[in-house]
Amino acid sequence: MTLASATPSLADLRVDGARLWQSLMDLARIGGTEKGGVCRLALTDLDRQGRDLFVNWAMEAGCEVRVDAIGNIFARRPGRNNSLPAVMTGSHIDTQPTGGKFDGNYGVLAGLEVLRTLNDAGVQTDAPLELAVWTNEEGSRFVPVMMGSGVYAGAFTLEHALSQQDRDGVSVREALCGIGYDGAAAVPPAQPDGVGAYFEAHIEQGPVLEAADTVIGVVTAALGQRWYDVVLTGVEAHAGPTPMPLRRDALLAASELVLAVNQIALAHAPNARGTVGWMDVFPNSRNVIPGRVRLTVDLRAADDATLSAMDAALRAAAEAAAAARGVTAQVDQVVYFPPQPFAPALVDSVREGAKALSMSALDVVSGAGHDAVYLARVAPAAMIFVPCKDGISHNEIEDARPEHLEAGCNVLLRAMLAQAGVAA
Ligand SMILES: [Zn+2]
Repeated sequence: MTLASATPSLADLRVDGARLWQSLMDLARIGGTEKGGVCRLALTDLDRQGRDLFVNWAMEAGCEVRVDAIGNIFARRPGRNNSLPAVMTGSHIDTQPTGGKFDGNYGVLAGLEVLRTLNDAGVQTDAPLELAVWTNEEGSRFVPVMMGSGVYAGAFTLEHALSQQDRDGVSVREALCGIGYDGAAAVPPAQPDGVGAYFEAHIEQGPVLEAADTVIGVVTAALGQRWYDVVLTGVEAHAGPTPMPLRRDALLAASELVLAVNQIALAHAPNARGTVGWMDVFPNSRNVIPGRVRLTVDLRAADDATLSAMDAALRAAAEAAAAARGVTAQVDQVVYFPPQPFAPALVDSVREGAKALSMSALDVVSGAGHDAVYLARVAPAAMIFVPCKDGISHNEIEDARPEHLEAGCNVLLRAMLAQAGVAA
């Protein structure tokens, strides 16, 4: 049964925005900072308190709660036909040291609000619903980032994740045991092949929606990333006696490369990105012509053809800048994340949900990593973005408007119902 043919009461179903907001504020008190942010690092006692609060809420909502071996929490609301793959939503509740109330927490509590709303209305879905809390998305205390969803999706092994240590030498395995979320071996973990669809609601963490005065971001893809280390090598020489035509100035070549990186991204607007974020100039002395510059380049694009073209353009630009200045260029790629398109059918569910609710919506890409990016490798996945104030996130002043959070949650509700089907 589709929503279009649903009873009028189902089409009119809305989440309780005040309850969603209150839950966000309640969770934000755990690890709350003086500046109004949240510091709740993964697998700390504060993380345990946050998890415990979530588990209590999920059980109050009638869910069956399971924890897997990397500490991911799954709260399940049975459907009419529990042999159908689940329709899943979720996000994370760990934060950066100077994190905010909404990054991750919104996706988890929006999912909870959907389940509460269905309970209140007595709606049974055909497929079961799953609400996931992924372990250590932020990667602040332990790397790699997106650890729980990465293990779940097979991006790296459970053993690799468990053996990682924080700066004090505490392993993920020890920290999970310490907070009592090391999973119960007797309980089979949820498997990706049991997931029919995955939705994640998230604050945008960027300025696009706010600038466009738009409420719903329909996320079509996550940008792929190529990171590089570049070394430009010339010759240090005295700034006085060395005439301009006879110099081999590495910083001059680097400067041209910085501009080229910007141009390379602009040539693939609006979704491509190019950034030189770090530079080291040697010997960095007032009257010495720079003999060596090391710098980083971060290129991002929504599809691999574009990202490959940007890679070729970067290498050509480095060669050209070096040749023009009599220096040598070495360009090494050090990180590659493939672009991750989201599932068109699910993206359509998000777009249709916003349309049915008469909300402004815009197709956008995710420039940042999210658990949904790993889930998309093993299940159809999509994301819903809502604006955050001034596009600021990973900051204690991170803020979002209650009506926007409510709107995104209503879109999530409709998208999940569209995928799960509603028992007649
Ligand atoms: Zn997040």
